[in-house]
Amino acid sequence: MDCLFCKIIAGEIPSTKVYEDDDMYAFRDINPEAPCHVLVVPKTHIPSMDGVNAENSAVVAKIFEKIPEIARLGGCENGYRVIANCGPDAGQTVMHLHFHILGGTVLPIHIVPEK
Ligand code: AMP
Ligand code: ZN
Repeated sequence: MDCLFCKIIAGEIPSTKVYEDDDMYAFRDINPEAPCHVLVVPKTHIPSMDGVNAENSAVVAKIFEKIPEIARLGGCENGYRVIANCGPDAGQTVMHLHFHILGGTVLPIHIVPEK
């Protein structure tokens, strides 16, 4: 499958690992938007949040259980924000479910356009 994050998980494309286990892989975003910017992906290919269902949601729960540890390992020591972009309006560019962990600085409050 021609998926960038599947290739990163397989080691075919280099990345800077932050954490890995049987279910997930966490690595530094190549274009960081904060001092700590880590991406966490399930090792199984799920295209986006729209693809989460009763059969595959256990891995999402496992990722959320690990996010506090991954955030600390990545350098988010004073809090962090978790974001999943889904679909074109949210600006999803890689169609393999991923959670952004952002921190390492005081983040701006407004992440969506003001009304
Ligand atoms: P999204 O816009 O939510 O789909 O996020 C995709 C993220 O993947 C962006 O923040 C990119 O900077 C990041 N990204 C793209 N290619 C790579 C790569 N080879 N290694 C690490 N992060 C990447
Ligand atoms: Zn994939």
